[in-house]
Amino acid sequence: MKLPPQPWQARAGAKRILAALGADTRIVGGAVRDALLGIEVADVDLATRLKPEAVVKTLEAAGIKAVPTGIAHGTITAVSDGGIFEVTTLRRDVSTNGRHAEVAFSEDWQEDASRRDFTINALYADPATGEIFDYFGGLDDLKDRRVRFIGDPLKRIAEDHLRILRFFRFHARFGGEPHPESLEACATRANDLMALSRERIRDELLKLLCVADPLPTLRLMLERGILVPVFPEIEAARLADLDRLVSIERALGQPCAALRRLAALLPADAALLDDVAARLRLSNVERKRLVTTADRLTKIPATPLPLAYRIGADSAADRLLLAAHQPDDIAEPLKTLAAWQEPRLPISGRDLIALGVPAGPEVSRLLLRVEDMWVEDGFPPDREAVLELARQALASSAR
Ligand code: ATP
Ligand code: MG
Repeated sequence: MKLPPQPWQARAGAKRILAALGADTRIVGGAVRDALLGIEVADVDLATRLKPEAVVKTLEAAGIKAVPTGIAHGTITAVSDGGIFEVTTLRRDVSTNGRHAEVAFSEDWQEDASRRDFTINALYADPATGEIFDYFGGLDDLKDRRVRFIGDPLKRIAEDHLRILRFFRFHARFGGEPHPESLEACATRANDLMALSRERIRDELLKLLCVADPLPTLRLMLERGILVPVFPEIEAARLADLDRLVSIERALGQPCAALRRLAALLPADAALLDDVAARLRLSNVERKRLVTTADRLTKIPATPLPLAYRIGADSAADRLLLAAHQPDDIAEPLKTLAAWQEPRLPISGRDLIALGVPAGPEVSRLLLRVEDMWVEDGFPPDREAVLELARQALASSAR
């Protein structure tokens, strides 16, 4: 089995990087795995026997920008017109505690392979010849789309608990029968997840939610109690809601938003969503987006734009998608939303003062009123028309 030449390898920048790093460097991990599955490769990881300092020197001598993104762990990012490449020196674990690993550099490919998580993630390819190096039966597992730990699953989970979630994420993506012993180990050690940082849990979970069809894996995770330690509030009964959302998104070609999918799995309860957002250490913008989903639409509005103006286009799309029963319910409103550019109210408080409103709190009160009228009228862009609305508002407030 050989890795056929990859489209990204044809780009001048990629060629320069691979030529500079030479025979001591191989393509590894997702870039090999996904290419063999015929999936488009997103980012490319390279493994090398060169030490990090040598990687930097070699790249710079070839006129390639080398960013020491994780030099302590052996990772240099090579940036060139062909894209971004993470170049990591071969490593072995010196010590692990479930959350962090201390590593030492190595020159041995198999040693480097053995510290990777799953057999399908430990495939290496020679960039010049396409020759594949498979130390743990990854090609067989890939053929069956089976996610299997390298070595003893319980030991590998004890080294790094995040691998439990990674196991399910890759299973969700590739979909074969899970390797029984690996699955058992994940179920047995589910409580270990509590020792991980919230940020790491969040990143894996959100990635898992955005695979093409996360349903079968989520069902399996719920059955095996994997989510209980981090997400006791997710109930199997809600999987049907997520299922509907996923199929509507797919039918309408709507890109995945992980927080929307998460919202589908949780009760529509602002306090609870706020709590989940805090637990996952979401940013303020993300938190707001999640909490905003608590307010569910009871009816699809004729135009989504007033809603979009008030809560933002993303949140408006969330509400439409969460409320729809079938794609047709929201196809038009979503199109309208996608083409929409947020307008700006073409007048300000100063204009109201010029119309005779005394400076003070009355100005902002009236401005809000005018804004409401402007939104209701479909956002007329014309200043004169809006000044006319302001005069009407002023007249009715004087009455
Ligand atoms: P993706 O397409 O999701 O990025 P990937 O295989 O590139 O898939 P990454 O998380 O980017 O996954 O990691 C790159 C590689 O590093 C993996 O293929 C795997 O070999 C190794 N790896 C990453 N995280 C771990 C971990 N927690 N334990 C062991 N090996 C890991
Ligand atoms: Mg990757």
